[in-house]
Amino acid sequence: MSATFSALHDLESKLHELDRRAQRRRRRIQQKPCGPEARIDGRVMLSFASNDYLGLANAPELIEAAREALPHWGLGSGASHLVSGHTEAHEAMEQQLARFTGMPAAISFSTGYLANIAVMPALLGREDEIFADRLNHASLIDGALLSRARLTRYAHCDLAMLGRQLEASRARRKLIVTDSVFSMDGDLAPLPALLELAERYDAWLLIDDAHGFGVLGPQGRGALAAAGLSSPRLILMATLGKAAGVGGAFVAAHPVVVEWLMQTARPCIFTTATPPLLAAAVCRALELIEAGDARRARLQQLIARLRQGLEALGYRTAASATPIQPVIIGENAQALSLSRALEERGLYVPAIRPPTVPQGSARLRVSLTAAHSEADVDRLLEAMREARTDMPSA
Ligand SMILES: *Cc1c(COP(=O)(O)O)cnc(C)c1O
Repeated sequence: MSATFSALHDLESKLHELDRRAQRRRRRIQQKPCGPEARIDGRVMLSFASNDYLGLANAPELIEAAREALPHWGLGSGASHLVSGHTEAHEAMEQQLARFTGMPAAISFSTGYLANIAVMPALLGREDEIFADRLNHASLIDGALLSRARLTRYAHCDLAMLGRQLEASRARRKLIVTDSVFSMDGDLAPLPALLELAERYDAWLLIDDAHGFGVLGPQGRGALAAAGLSSPRLILMATLGKAAGVGGAFVAAHPVVVEWLMQTARPCIFTTATPPLLAAAVCRALELIEAGDARRARLQQLIARLRQGLEALGYRTAASATPIQPVIIGENAQALSLSRALEERGLYVPAIRPPTVPQGSARLRVSLTAAHSEADVDRLLEAMREARTDMPSA
């Protein structure tokens, strides 16, 4: 018979260790489409857990766009972009994305994760150096590691430290990489100052606008448009699964960069193009984003209402003017118990724990969307008030 399979045994004990540290996660089963009112594991709950910032994931216009595209395109694209999967719908989407972001060219990816593991390995190699904000999204760290370039991390938004690192670098090519809106804190990177450093030290600047696209800037054109920046050094990446409400991602940059990615980026070449009906839905989403000032204004009202309410209750908020509103708790177990107390009251607000956030900074991550109402925010605040008095040491 088989001897003890020790590798499997190791995994079991590691899973037990996660339980012991209150770090084991579980996937909650959603029984309704994305929206404020969720049914999760059989229970109706008010959800503050999606990145659907403009409430487009379920917009009738997008459903209609997909419905119209379905009989024309069917479902699968059938191949990668370079083989035969690049349809008119994808081509139109890329052109529209470039125009919308004010960038000279754009190329689509199947997900933001793939886009982020594509760019750095395509542009850099062993003799090069990447300078990354410590709080960057995991996909940017993975992309940096895959490139084999030296990875130097700077303290969160610490321009002085980054300047010293760039000054000291003897690398052949340099790239600075940052989230525009940090995904667990909701704060903004100092993009104009980062571009100045990129210019001074002859570096690329790669910006992950996953949480800014659709939300920031005039007509939701994103963080670069908000800051009014343009330069051939800029490489913009954003996902289409958050504010755009669909799925997929793109990179926009100088046409030479876009062409180079098309020729060499492995996550572009060796993956199947997304279903064309998604590209058609994205084109419609771009129109809704552009015409979405009312949705963005509503979102800002909800953000202000939530922050005022939380501060009045004595909760620790973060310096965030975006729909990502973390409530910093500290200990894992305490963040979990607050999240559970809210759940008992019919509210779904996930607790975020290390390693997603630094040790000792476990938090509730409230994320607001234009589909929420003021009454929804008030209900959350009321539940936070009650839950607080229940908490052991609050
Ligand atoms: C969500 C996210 C991604 C990944 O995008 P997907 O399209 O979901 O794969 C990348 N970067 C940041 C900052 C994100 O929040």
